[in-house]
Amino acid sequence: MITIDGSMGEGGGQVIRSAVALSLVTGTPVRLQNIRAGRSKPGVLRQHHTALAAAATISNGTLDGGAVGDTSAEFSPGRVVPGDYEFAVGSAGSTTLVFQTILPALLLVDRVSTITLSGGTHNPWAPPVDYLAQVFAPLLERMGGRIEIETERYGFAPAGGGQWRATVHPLRSWKELQLHERGDVHTRRATILIANLPGGRAVAERERRVLVRRLNWRECDVTVQDVPNSAGPGNVILCTVESDSVTEMGVAFGQLGVRAESVARAAANQVRAYLTHDAPVGEHLADQLMLPLTLAGKGSFVTGRLSRHATTNRDVLAMFDVAPLRIESYGARTQRVFVG
Ligand code: ATP
Repeated sequence: MITIDGSMGEGGGQVIRSAVALSLVTGTPVRLQNIRAGRSKPGVLRQHHTALAAAATISNGTLDGGAVGDTSAEFSPGRVVPGDYEFAVGSAGSTTLVFQTILPALLLVDRVSTITLSGGTHNPWAPPVDYLAQVFAPLLERMGGRIEIETERYGFAPAGGGQWRATVHPLRSWKELQLHERGDVHTRRATILIANLPGGRAVAERERRVLVRRLNWRECDVTVQDVPNSAGPGNVILCTVESDSVTEMGVAFGQLGVRAESVARAAANQVRAYLTHDAPVGEHLADQLMLPLTLAGKGSFVTGRLSRHATTNRDVLAMFDVAPLRIESYGARTQRVFVG
């Protein structure tokens, strides 16, 4: 049994998700304490509870505590069984984060699984399902793991109500990811999603103007897409930068009371921050690649300066019996994360 102090580092939900993901893979029970102590509303939210419960379901494991509001939980995994599973967050909580908790274990079994998730598909502070499909999945595939993603219904926070399905194929053997250079950027495009929003087209046009101006992109690089199948209202900007080695995405969410221009500026600023250095891996991708890299036991990627979120994640992974991640400077503003 490993005891994990949920207040460590950033003290957010990632501590428990990574701990449970590795608990499943290594078969090691975990005791989680002080869950999300670093957040203004500590304790388990629906998204974290769904992740814990999903881990117990796919492994016939036992979960003690970990209900919504709890600040502790004990999880003992059993044997991971591939299959067809459905998990509902029951709120707008992020379904992609639930999926990332159980994904590593499902990659490492011998049969295909399909996972149907319902809840939030586009949440601030979480990877949108498009990010999972366009940014994370291709890199996972280069590491030997294949997932397919089908979005059936969009679920924007705060309404939620989205649904999507992932097919997870068994990973035969890990391949070594070496991701050091970005190479040339050959495609830049932004998609502005609008759902059930009175005056949404006008909002999108204001966002488009700011994106074009701040990023020096062409009008035709920015597409506005009406999302017909969404439970609630939503507005998200997805800015995609495709280079020789990787696809990255800056994301910003429209919110009540926040001007369209500010939302577009936030999206543009993420792209600009990514392009200020020539590392291929952006801030969020860096923390999301750490777990697969650890499990692969080989490989290396270069990113900008690691966030506290990423260093906290590295520290959680280091508590398990897996290949430790190392971090070194790699040029003035970039760092290399590697195993070995
Ligand atoms: P809390 O921190 O409140 O407990 P949480 O459990 O929802 O919240 P975090 O622990 O902050 O979440 O983890 C959020 C995860 O979502 C991280 O892996 C982070 O990289 C990812 N993420 C956040 N924003 C984006 C984004 N715009 N694009 C891609 N990934 C994102």
